[in-house]
Amino acid sequence: MDEHQVVWNEKVAEKLIKKLEKRRMEGSYAATAALAKEEVIAMITPGASVYRCGTMTAGEAGLWESIAEMPEVKLIDPYEPGIPPEEGLARRQQGMTADFMIASSNAITLDGKLVNLDGMGNRVAAMAFGPKKVILMVGMNKVTPDLESAMARVKHYAAPVNNIRFGLENPCVKTGLCSDCKSPTRICNMWSIIEGHMIEKRIHVKLIGEFVGY
Ligand code: SF4
Repeated sequence: MDEHQVVWNEKVAEKLIKKLEKRRMEGSYAATAALAKEEVIAMITPGASVYRCGTMTAGEAGLWESIAEMPEVKLIDPYEPGIPPEEGLARRQQGMTADFMIASSNAITLDGKLVNLDGMGNRVAAMAFGPKKVILMVGMNKVTPDLESAMARVKHYAAPVNNIRFGLENPCVKTGLCSDCKSPTRICNMWSIIEGHMIEKRIHVKLIGEFVGY
């Protein structure tokens, strides 16, 4: 990240935070993923339960390991290696009533809309309703000018790259491009566009001044 990109990140993040506040959400900015991680950890209260959702951004920052080490904090982790699929599903259901949910957003528009696409729907459902507090760690690489470009980013970049990451056999893994498949392992089933929330400040967007996640 060179100095010119840093200036752009700071200016755009400042504008985005104001847009989020107008939508009854809240935002903050950290220059690096490492700083973002520390700031997110500081938001978690003793005795809380934390629902881990699919996010490369948090994983790359080492957030889950740090939360797992926090005394009195219960990490609800559907991605724990070795657990059977039914346990993963049960933990996703438990996560819906957690104190905190931590995820990323596939994209955020310049006017503060959060755009996401899910295969199973647990992440977008919990973003909308369930966990008391939603914290989204979002790299500035996910900022798009408008809704159309946000959806294009998600469908034609984030989804194929995530397919490659998961080792799936969907067509986009071979071509790198979405062909709107109808595969049983399609990860692109449910769109969510969050334009605001009735519960003020329930959703906190932690913007990160680095290119992190997809
Ligand atoms: S719809 Fe299918 S081909 Fe398109 S990105 Fe999703 S999984 Fe890949």
